[in-house]
Amino acid sequence: MSASINTRVYRSRLLDALSWVEYQFMPAGAHPPENAAYGHQRHSAVVLSGHQAFPAKRCEGDAVIASDSRPVAVYTADCLPMLIVDKQQRRVAAAHGGLRGVTAGIHLNVMDKLCELGAVPESLLLIIGPAIGPCCYELGQQVIADMQQQPVLSSLRVALPWSHQQPVNRLAQRPQAQAQQNGVWFNLPALAENMASLWGLPSENVEQLGVCTYCSAEEHASYRRNTHFGGGYQQRFSWIRRID
Ligand SMILES: [Zn+2]
Repeated sequence: MSASINTRVYRSRLLDALSWVEYQFMPAGAHPPENAAYGHQRHSAVVLSGHQAFPAKRCEGDAVIASDSRPVAVYTADCLPMLIVDKQQRRVAAAHGGLRGVTAGIHLNVMDKLCELGAVPESLLLIIGPAIGPCCYELGQQVIADMQQQPVLSSLRVALPWSHQQPVNRLAQRPQAQAQQNGVWFNLPALAENMASLWGLPSENVEQLGVCTYCSAEEHASYRRNTHFGGGYQQRFSWIRRID
């Protein structure tokens, strides 16, 4: 493992432009702030308030909208850590989205709730942090077929982003995943972005950090890589808070 990967800091151009926000996509294995609020994650589409999610894991839910300046967090391995901001009301949220959570619309539920609280789509930002990329995420063909029946996806009429050919990741720091089945290569971050776009989020309000946990993040960042090679994996905490 090179030191450059180990010490990498993940920054968001959109969030760095906001003076009233503090955030981190932490390296896998690093401890979150002690006062962070987060849910007991269940791959659901349930959104909690910051009050409900503190003490941490008190309630089940996969996203947290901050109630005050306490940090709100999610923990992930290959799933998507998503930080969501409403610039108008100065609200912040964190969402955890694996395949089940994203297809159930966890991030859309957060944006819906922020709009109930006074946001408009143009005032929202969605930042997708380190997660397994299409370079390393193979799914069986039946999973794709099942996804097409999924109510949130079919009501949005979203095109599923997958390819038969494994995309090459030119930023890979170690070998990409090898095919384990005669499956397809699925782009979960792109699905989350496409869903947000069909929901009404302007494309310039979305940012993908584009770091694959399997082949280009820290050594022990990937659940799936651990299932292929062992060696363990550690959770990544991503958090955000409003600075009063
Ligand atoms: Zn990869």
